[in-house]
Amino acid sequence: MAKTPDEIMGQLEREDVQFLRLQFTDILGFIKNVEVPRSQFQKALDGELMFDGSSIEGFTRIEESDMLLKPDFSTFLIFPQFSAEESARGRVARLICDIAMPDHSPFEGDPRQVLRRLIDRASELGFELLCGPEPEFFIFERNAQGRPTTVTGDHAGYFDLAPIDKGERLRREITNALVDMGFDIEAAHHEVAPGQHEIDFKYSGALKTADNIATFKFVVKRVALEYGVHASFMPKPVAGLSGSGMHCHLSLFREGKNAFFDEQGEHQLSQTALHFIAGLLEHAPGMVAVTNPLVNSYKRLVPGFEAPTNIAWSTSNRSALVRVPARRGSGTRAELRMPDPSCNPYLALTVMLAAGLDGIKQGLLPPPPVQRNIYKMTVRERRAHRVRNLPGDLSEAIGALENDEVIREALGEHVVEHFIAAKRAEWHAYSAVVHQWELDRYLDEV
Ligand code: GLU
Ligand code: MG
Ligand code: MG
Repeated sequence: MAKTPDEIMGQLEREDVQFLRLQFTDILGFIKNVEVPRSQFQKALDGELMFDGSSIEGFTRIEESDMLLKPDFSTFLIFPQFSAEESARGRVARLICDIAMPDHSPFEGDPRQVLRRLIDRASELGFELLCGPEPEFFIFERNAQGRPTTVTGDHAGYFDLAPIDKGERLRREITNALVDMGFDIEAAHHEVAPGQHEIDFKYSGALKTADNIATFKFVVKRVALEYGVHASFMPKPVAGLSGSGMHCHLSLFREGKNAFFDEQGEHQLSQTALHFIAGLLEHAPGMVAVTNPLVNSYKRLVPGFEAPTNIAWSTSNRSALVRVPARRGSGTRAELRMPDPSCNPYLALTVMLAAGLDGIKQGLLPPPPVQRNIYKMTVRERRAHRVRNLPGDLSEAIGALENDEVIREALGEHVVEHFIAAKRAEWHAYSAVVHQWELDRYLDEV
């Protein structure tokens, strides 16, 4: 249950909170904060605080820059004390906010409200989307200047135990901080590559999950900083090693029951589940720019590292884009393996939900599941299974987004326009650089 503004005010006073952070996310997925001292607490709780939207990526033009922050009271929490010096200054609390125009109407470029719109659309059909994300990340050393490197002192692998796993203590500290903030942590373990970790938290509704992912990334980075190391959610920081994904376990609930489960259905999946999966496959090219938004994202989506490169589904193998884990009953779900943790979680969940709902609306059915390792299939075998490729780079992905009316409509014109412009600029900046690989390959030879 969300607290009332009066209850929050009371708690802020009782617990000697000195600063209140009003948090929101820009279109590209960066968390933004406006921090206010005690004198402004009431104004903040009343939703009367203004900020300059024109300085936030993809928000507004200069001439309409005053925006309002409307706190969502259900997101109130007091941060744990990350450091001794911080606690000396008093405690810090936060509220996640929706963005409103000066006339208090919702701002169409606010990713959180874009997701809300899709959630409302799903609930008109009687559905609630639940999502359990599995964010992976690397812990790297910092150099003498404090800049992050890709060096790790850790040589452990998947599920290894201390004393090999140097990251274990830090991972435990991160987990403790998350638990203090109300996260329900399901698993924390070392991942495949040296320095790579995964911490899984319990599934929730889509909006809460997106809030959780944003908060999670902040806490991981904050605690790592305290330990003098750097946590990175970059999808592929080191060529030749596993990249970091953020698999999303998705299910629809209807009247309190898992709508993906049907004991009599093929694979014990309902028609709704099959339509939803077919929608994810159908719109995968159009949504990948959102779920995998960086130039670097596409260097993770290569064969051989348990990341998908093709559009297929499976009830067993991990090379598929959508995997249906063995659990049935209320735990029946589809794992979308494409997203990476650099995405804007609000927009990523919006496009996943839009794709699945479109599959339901159109009554789409997926091709038969591919149970073999897709990396090892021939071109002819892939064609027989109707396995298409995912876009190979950010430029192709932007093109596919431009051509996908369902995904565009779900995001809304404001977000689509700003997102595509920012991503095109990113691609052009990258394309204009002469990379070390080119020098190594051509300088001598040509
Ligand atoms: N790191 C892999 C990826 O890039 C996933 C490994 C796993 O299955 O957890 O998606
Ligand atoms: Mg993993
Ligand atoms: Mg997984």
